[in-house]
Amino acid sequence: MYQGNYLAQHLAAASIDRGERIFAHLENGTDLSYADFFNGAQQYANLLIALGVTPNDRVAVQVDKCIEVLQLYIGTVLAGGVFLPLNTAYTPSEISYFLEDAQPRVFICADASAQLLKPVADAAAVNVLETLNADGSGSFATLAQIQAVAFEAVPRSADDLAAILYTSGTTGRSKGAMLSHRNLWSNSSTLRDTWHFTPQDKLIHALPIFHTHGLFVAINVTLATGSSLIFMQGFNIDDIITAMPKATVLMGVPTFYVRLLKHTQIEADFVKKMRLFISGSAPLLAETHQSWSKATGHDILERYGMTETNMNTSNPYHAQRCPGTVGLPLPGVEVRVCDAQTQQLLAPNSIGSIEVRGPNVFSGYWNMPDKTKQELRDNGFFITGDLGIIDDKGYISIIGRSKDLIITGGYNVYPKEIEILIDDIAGVLESAVIGLAHADFGESVCAVIVRQGDNAISADDIKHTLSGHLAKYKQPKQIFFVDELPRNAMGKVQKNSLRESFDKQ
Ligand code: AMP
Repeated sequence: MYQGNYLAQHLAAASIDRGERIFAHLENGTDLSYADFFNGAQQYANLLIALGVTPNDRVAVQVDKCIEVLQLYIGTVLAGGVFLPLNTAYTPSEISYFLEDAQPRVFICADASAQLLKPVADAAAVNVLETLNADGSGSFATLAQIQAVAFEAVPRSADDLAAILYTSGTTGRSKGAMLSHRNLWSNSSTLRDTWHFTPQDKLIHALPIFHTHGLFVAINVTLATGSSLIFMQGFNIDDIITAMPKATVLMGVPTFYVRLLKHTQIEADFVKKMRLFISGSAPLLAETHQSWSKATGHDILERYGMTETNMNTSNPYHAQRCPGTVGLPLPGVEVRVCDAQTQQLLAPNSIGSIEVRGPNVFSGYWNMPDKTKQELRDNGFFITGDLGIIDDKGYISIIGRSKDLIITGGYNVYPKEIEILIDDIAGVLESAVIGLAHADFGESVCAVIVRQGDNAISADDIKHTLSGHLAKYKQPKQIFFVDELPRNAMGKVQKNSLRESFDKQ
């Protein structure tokens, strides 16, 4: 099936003999078979070709989470196009940037936003705008219904582009990471094998599908295995609890686990059918890992990846899963910690730049050759922008983003070291440590703290507790209290927005 189209051929191979097998259990109570999933994708592929899509054309999509978006992803790949999913939270002015930059042949959005986005698409000279809604209706869906189901995949080789995913753009403009058929397939097959997926697996899918985690990790691994999804339109604790007795795997961001732990049903007997809990996209606190193990008897498997590289590391399936670490490099992926300037490898447990090389690593940023040159070395290593350590056993820990490193009076301060201490203080729920501009020191260390419940812990209490544990230059000079930390859809704390909020105070 799909001979000659590298990614589609590989992804479909696992389900080729399983036409009637269930691909997805949907929220409306119906099941979608593999045969119907691929038939729908083929109709979409026929329609994309009719709309003028030729190899390497981008198909940009800003549509609420629904199964049809996944069919559009596979339909785009079958048609030889490049799938470009956009965060559903983006405003028209943000969409304008993506359309201008990516110049898609086709842009698909919801009916509700079409009126606002039509002038935006026109201004970017994107001539084909169709609609698709979360309930599966819309002009694109209507046009697809009259398309033939039969479709011969457009040939694409391993190095051709399959997708462009824009980075979340917390510093400067979002960059379009160009991902090839090989990048996506190599990572899906590696993860499928590393995490021991079988066709009997049922994965709870409550993540967004415009991001590498919910789209490529979850969907490609499922397709590559021929297993099933329990597909949810969003993250809802009660829905996850209801699904758990029928499921075998959960892929989540740390917030999922923190919130699930508050649910009284989370205990060993209730999760006895589950075989694997996976976490990634943001740091999982060692404390959450331990509380989960205590409650359920399962050690959460934490992994580490990013838009540009897919997944790089994973804690082992059989051997020890170390809390606070992101595990070992995946098979075929090289991970090194080095001095960013000299590229000299550092001794175990020394903090340095995390760099990654392998078939999973993207080929560059769309339209940004200079940025690509800065971040992708000639020898193939990608400078992730993360700081980390590798311990004596080869386990990797993320210390933070290099841009979040605070340099105060010439000293390096790693926010995570201070956050761990603050989070441990009774009365503190969580914290984020940032550097704010300071006339003398260049930057000064500041802590933004969320109190636990109605605890009245004060800035002085915090400063007093820290003073015995930290060198003076690492102690926060200012402490701010907030009700919650700003997080993006993947649960990442938005430190740039904290810096902006507190810079002038
Ligand atoms: P994104 O490209 O949006 O997926 O963001 C990638 C970034 O998320 C990485 O460079 C890390 O900074 C962070 N990240 C991903 N997984 C983890 C993890 N398990 N622990 C800590 N940070 C992570």
